[in-house]
Amino acid sequence: MEEQGKRSHVVVLTYPAQGHINPLLQFTKRLAAKGLRATFATTPYTILSIRSTTIGLEPISDGFDEGGFSLAPSTEAYLESFKTAGSKTLSDLVQKFIHTEDPVTCIVYDSLLPWAMDVARKFGIYSALLLTVSASVSSLFWHIHRGQLSFPVKLEEDDQPLTVPGIPPIRHGELPTFLARPEDQSAYLSVIMGMYATLDQHDFVFCNSSEELEIESVKAMSGQWPLVMVGPLIPLAYSSSHQSEEDTAYGANLWDPSNEPYLQWLDQREPNSVIYVSFGSMAKIPQAQVEEFASGLKLTNKPFLWVLKDYPKDKLPVGCLGSGGETFRRGLVVEWCNQLEVLAHRAVGCFFTHCGWNSTLEGISLGVPMVGAPIWSDQPMNAKFVDEVLGLGVRAKRDEAGILTAREIERCVHEVMDGERSDEFRANASNWAEKAKGSVSKGGSSDRNIEEFIAKLVKRGR
Ligand code: UDP
Repeated sequence: MEEQGKRSHVVVLTYPAQGHINPLLQFTKRLAAKGLRATFATTPYTILSIRSTTIGLEPISDGFDEGGFSLAPSTEAYLESFKTAGSKTLSDLVQKFIHTEDPVTCIVYDSLLPWAMDVARKFGIYSALLLTVSASVSSLFWHIHRGQLSFPVKLEEDDQPLTVPGIPPIRHGELPTFLARPEDQSAYLSVIMGMYATLDQHDFVFCNSSEELEIESVKAMSGQWPLVMVGPLIPLAYSSSHQSEEDTAYGANLWDPSNEPYLQWLDQREPNSVIYVSFGSMAKIPQAQVEEFASGLKLTNKPFLWVLKDYPKDKLPVGCLGSGGETFRRGLVVEWCNQLEVLAHRAVGCFFTHCGWNSTLEGISLGVPMVGAPIWSDQPMNAKFVDEVLGLGVRAKRDEAGILTAREIERCVHEVMDGERSDEFRANASNWAEKAKGSVSKGGSSDRNIEEFIAKLVKRGR
């Protein structure tokens, strides 16, 4: 037990993108729910979109306080500015609490902000890195960092697949794009490779995944580096029986959920009948691809809910949503939604996803079969995982111009929802959902790992 009035105090620092805020915010809330004082730190303009009654919120500067990334001249300049301004404001924050009842005892930071370790060191407090990608992707980068795979990774169509312990053979088109086309994203890649170079220096390395979901990668990495699985970091109401108001949503939306009554629209559909289509927060879908989607979804003859961000609805092909008035038409297009509520809805029978790691974990945790259509970053590896390791669905193939054609969209949806393997996908989806829930429920592997971390903080009293 901790001394009355003195609690371990953890500051959690996130990169200000939706796919990073969600898991780190969720982790902060779990620490608070277990009795710690937990403070979530992010850029001043992002903090305005965060709601919570159980955690503290503190601004950390990225050097572009009026609007962030969009004001930076380049990704490189942004990351560099965040490091300089962020190190200073994070130090000020830790300093501010030093003579209070709850001095900061640990900084948990996003894997894109590994410089926060130096701030923790300066104050002699614990440092903990949180990987927002899977253990398999982390393992692949780790092997490259160790020189066990050559870099840059050249993997052509006819080449032998790459072998990495714990991961099925990796073929052309399955590598994270940062590795396959390093020239496209050199600024992120250099932060990521720099982070793997310091991996053994952090006091803790957390991963947003679970021992059950990634058993082979976890086994293969065991003893090599201190990876602690703490996920899936999904609001607990969706992944276990534990429930409080704080647990029903992430509590952060960089975009406002649509005013369209999409949940009522879903209420009127048959169970497992709706295709939910979303490509996350970062992707911009080109006009030609939007048109193929509109035709492909029409070909399926099924109801669909489609998140199409920053795309004027009046530019959609005429008639693609079907007729019958707002409530009864076959398709509904929204700017942004509460994805968890949608995936948890009984009407949703297929998740057409870009396989961002959070979306992938949400689809798994809520037991929804998937069509994977990766775009960049770690998404090709996640789509491979969904298809080859978990058996939860299929991957869509792009044509030579990189387009998912209407026919291919229709083929994949059919395979997942009505094809020969559709029952198998549904059965696997419920099995993996149970395992994911088990990991985060009280006494599950991820829950125990979080408790052990807390016990170490409390014991050391720093
Ligand atoms: N999301 C949401 N509403 C939407 C689309 C996405 O709340 O309409 C959330 C989704 O639940 C996930 C996050 O945005 O937690 C996207 O993260 P992911 O890693 O899947 O993709 P990214 O945006 O990083 O590409």
